[in-house]
Amino acid sequence: MSFASLSLIDPLLRTLEELGYDTPTPVQKQAIPAVLAGRDLLAAAQTGTGKTAGFALPLLQHLTMDTAQASAHAVRCLVLVPTRELAEQVYESFRKYGGKLPLRSYVAYGGVPMEPQIAKLRKGLDVLVATPGRLLDLHRQGALLLDQLQTLVLDEADRMLDLGFSRDLDAVFAAVPKERQTLLFSATFSDAIRGMAAGLLRDPLSIQASPRNTTAKAVRQHVITTDKKSKPELFLHLLRKRGWGQVMVFVKTRKGTDQLVATLQAAGVSADAIHGDKPQPARLRALERFKSGQVQILAATDVAARGLDIQALPLVVNFDLPTVAEDYVHRIGRTGRAGAEGEAISLVCADEVELLRAIETLIRQVLPRTEEDGFEADHRVPSTGTPAVQTGGKPRSGAAKQGTARANGKSARPAQPRPASPAAAPARGKSIPARPARSQAGGAARNPSGTAAGTLPQGKIVMAAGRGAKSAAKAAAKSASKAGGRPPKR
Ligand code: AMP
Repeated sequence: MSFASLSLIDPLLRTLEELGYDTPTPVQKQAIPAVLAGRDLLAAAQTGTGKTAGFALPLLQHLTMDTAQASAHAVRCLVLVPTRELAEQVYESFRKYGGKLPLRSYVAYGGVPMEPQIAKLRKGLDVLVATPGRLLDLHRQGALLLDQLQTLVLDEADRMLDLGFSRDLDAVFAAVPKERQTLLFSATFSDAIRGMAAGLLRDPLSIQASPRNTTAKAVRQHVITTDKKSKPELFLHLLRKRGWGQVMVFVKTRKGTDQLVATLQAAGVSADAIHGDKPQPARLRALERFKSGQVQILAATDVAARGLDIQALPLVVNFDLPTVAEDYVHRIGRTGRAGAEGEAISLVCADEVELLRAIETLIRQVLPRTEEDGFEADHRVPSTGTPAVQTGGKPRSGAAKQGTARANGKSARPAQPRPASPAAAPARGKSIPARPARSQAGGAARNPSGTAAGTLPQGKIVMAAGRGAKSAAKAAAKSASKAGGRPPKR
């Protein structure tokens, strides 16, 4: 199938040809005709699926064909995103795809002066990409009018809720016209997202897409147990011993990210950090330097890294485990792209065992563990006792994409208690033997309508992996929250 067969106009087709896009991705095949037809969309799609072009191309076409002009301060199409980085990325996509079209687009987020944004809005805009907080500030000041809005896009809606934008979003929903097109993209579907979708969307087309090139994707995942204090030295040791090339390393807190970067730089390793405390230009510069290969190690918090399109990383290291189990899936999704084999290594200390349990429950695997000579844990990392169905290898994408195991989940229902098996306990320096499937978490994940997870029938919304898997994940997440306490600054 070609882009031309999706009825895109000539200027867009020429741009796509110049970009070297010859085949639409699955999400684009489904989204483009539906958005052109004016339908609402509920899409389970994350970065890497081509989702941005999936909504940007038809919206740009629609805005070009409909010759109505936005009046002063008004916006015709609004794209809400959770982070500044994603805002820049999505705005860049609109500029790239709409390069041959006479449209005005702009990006607005917090942490930078508001005046240029106010000035830009004066003449009105066709497309505004914004984070919710700054958008509301602009609206409350009268710099932005939402009454002419035709299309509202919520990109990474789950992340916006995770970041506490729920009330801001409600305020935006109250300010936009009832008659409009709404497109909602989310990597995961919690009850809150479902509720939001039910209130916002009218007869939406539901689509689900897996990341591009995931069919051939294989990520080798393993855990190296150690003590918390040994992690920086262990990271440096592994970097040297294993001759690592470029590594994206995930750290729980902003402070921890800076500390690791300082340790690496002191040892002569080129490293940079992206996290929420860094000014926007510094974050973008770090990202560009990493992408161009000038920097070997990019240390990031989950929030700052979410949605970044960094291609073809051979290795991702979890210096700390994430407090939200799903972030583990997002993190390791950054390796093994484009059909290449990737590796994800997690440095895990005793404090993190509940987080590890939540992750293993979510992905339904016990991750193989090893220890590194000279860095053995004095505080042994206990067995997670996870009733996994396989060890190592690739996470089950259905569970990974659709399950919800939040370390800070509040409404968790307890899972059936299951005894921890000695088979799940790691032997020093050895992989954990595989265990047979258990009925609760094993087998093909099934949604309530009985279809295998990952094969969403058109027009139906599959919200969860197997019931057992979901409640088990929630229970594990609940116990993780007890251990984790308050979420750190990310
Ligand atoms: P996204 O999921 O929107 O972040 O896109 C992921 C990456 O895929 C971006 O670098 C896009 O430029 C690229 N991309 C999107 N659609 C296509 C396509 N049809 N062919 C080739 N590359 C694409």
